[in-house]
Amino acid sequence: MQECKRFNLGCRLMRLLTFIDLPIKKKFRLFSVGVLFWFLVMASLTIIGMASISIRYDKIINNAVPQDKVVQKVIRNLQAMNIDASGILKAQDKGAVTRLYDLTSRRQRDLRDFSSALALGGAVNDYSHDTGKLLETLHTTSLNEDPVGVDFLKEFSPLLDDIDQAYADFYAYKLETLAGEAANGEQLEARFVTLEDRMGAASQLSIDFSLYLSDLYHSSASRIVEIIQVTVLTVIGVLIIAVFLLLLFTRWISQALAKPIAEIVDQIHSVGTGDVDLTNKIEITSRDEIGTLSQEFNTLMDTVYSMTMFKRVIEEDATLEDVYARIGEVFHRELNLDDFVIYEVMDNQRDMTPVYPMAFGASEMSCSGEILTNCELCRAKKTGHEISSVAYPQVCKQFKQETGKVHVCMPMIIGGRTGGVVQFLFEPGKGSELDVQKVQGKIFKAEAYIKQALSVIEAKRLMHTLRESALKDPLTGLYNRRFLQDHANHVISGVLRRETCLGLIMCDLDYFKQVNDEYGHDVGDLVLKETSQLIYKNVRDTDIVIRFGGEEFLVLLVDTNPGDAEVVAEKIRKTFDENKFKIPNGSLKKTLSLGVSEFPVDSDGFWQCIKYADVALYKAKDGGRNQSLRFDEAMWEGEQF
Ligand code: GH3
Ligand code: MG
Ligand code: MG
Repeated sequence: MQECKRFNLGCRLMRLLTFIDLPIKKKFRLFSVGVLFWFLVMASLTIIGMASISIRYDKIINNAVPQDKVVQKVIRNLQAMNIDASGILKAQDKGAVTRLYDLTSRRQRDLRDFSSALALGGAVNDYSHDTGKLLETLHTTSLNEDPVGVDFLKEFSPLLDDIDQAYADFYAYKLETLAGEAANGEQLEARFVTLEDRMGAASQLSIDFSLYLSDLYHSSASRIVEIIQVTVLTVIGVLIIAVFLLLLFTRWISQALAKPIAEIVDQIHSVGTGDVDLTNKIEITSRDEIGTLSQEFNTLMDTVYSMTMFKRVIEEDATLEDVYARIGEVFHRELNLDDFVIYEVMDNQRDMTPVYPMAFGASEMSCSGEILTNCELCRAKKTGHEISSVAYPQVCKQFKQETGKVHVCMPMIIGGRTGGVVQFLFEPGKGSELDVQKVQGKIFKAEAYIKQALSVIEAKRLMHTLRESALKDPLTGLYNRRFLQDHANHVISGVLRRETCLGLIMCDLDYFKQVNDEYGHDVGDLVLKETSQLIYKNVRDTDIVIRFGGEEFLVLLVDTNPGDAEVVAEKIRKTFDENKFKIPNGSLKKTLSLGVSEFPVDSDGFWQCIKYADVALYKAKDGGRNQSLRFDEAMWEGEQF
């Protein structure tokens, strides 16, 4: 799910509903609440349905059915009373009339009982009027809550009184008729009709009420069926909606969890197999733990990417200086570190020198300058461990506390030894504490970059040493002929560009072979070493001294004026003439012959000029040795001149 546009309400609602930005724990909690909600909805619907059914069932079983049973008894009693009245009307003897009337009286009592049972509720017994046996005990409820029932009772009770009255009247008149006191049959008939009418009215009222109860029963029964159907359908409907929603939400939530995790797994797999595009970012779709995980993973990939790129770039850098500059740049750019110095420990394991920032003077150092000539004083160099005044104040004696800064010095372990030290400096703001966690975070990352660079630094230093050894003469430490071949063009182009002169002095020890012969090869070596030092001391730092052959040295005097070289050559010669070589058990005197030429004065060919210097040297040898001679055209017997 993409990040929502500001006004996309639907999308925002969707994010809200799928709990996408909530922590996973809350997500599942809310999901459970959702499931519970739907269960409760279904349970409530079922309970409501059951309760409605129960109310209606109660109405049928406890009200309509027993009340109808009682009303049916009422109707049957009224019908029986009617039959008895007909019997009384037709009976010719008093005994039969009295027996029928007794029966009727009992039925009248029953009617009263039934009527009061309908009015008040409760149990009522029905006896057989022939045998006197209990037929049934009827349990009924009061009709008083039913307005139709109340109306029925209102009409029915006075009717019972009327029936009692009419029956008593009819019975009395019949007895009088049988006794011959009242002879008018029409009047008896009239009393019978009156009685019949009243009983008919009561019977009709009861039948109507029975029909009403029966309707009530049927309508309640069909309502129950309806409720059952509605409840079942609603519950099924809710169940379908709930299942649909739950499936939908399960899918959304699981997708929101599974998709980024699958992407991360894919990326990790690619990292493992090496087939990885480090610039490929995982899309961040949520603000939950998965979102954080994706973000952290992207950051990790970024770091791995920049580390990989960093290493690749420094591997291709030409010089060690370039590598140090690159480390410095990455510290500035990626880690926002501005105050740091990279020191390189020299091969002699005694000196160390700042190599980054470029042109970093000893006066700018936060440490005592002594460490530059005695690097063992540097605690990080000596121990090979990180030395941090953040972790332990004033940990290193060489650090100038007056700077007010704190330092973290990290040794660069190269080939099992401390090959350098990176010193990070932090200045707590005025009156504010140093953010130690931030410092540690930066140091951690810086260390990762340094670790990436170590192998490259080691390789470059090794290469440098190898190159140096290939270009230098191991005995004297001077550059060799190979160096001249490699760097001649560089030197020549500089001289031509600056329109100056390059003086060439070819030097050769006189009768050196004798030294070897007389004192041995080792003494010969000693003399050669001292010779190189003597020549070296008589020229400027910018001049180049080369061991050209066995006891032959070539001096390149860079940026001179024509004529200068002769002067320098003579100076060298004199130095030799006055010098005594110290050898075991004494000293030795040796002289030097020198030949001088000048480029581009003598020739615009550099190698030709060397040749001329050589020619001049041999002229000096021929001329008796211990002399310096400037080349002259006359000395040349070759074809070119
Ligand atoms: P010249 O005055 O004519 O230059 O005589 P020379 O004896 O100096 O010249 P030569 O060319 O006859 O002898 C040079 C000697 O230098 C021969 C060689 O044994 C010696 N030599 C060359 N390289 C070395 C080295 O590295 N160590 C030592 N001890 N001797 C060397
Ligand atoms: Mg010689
Ligand atoms: Mg020689």
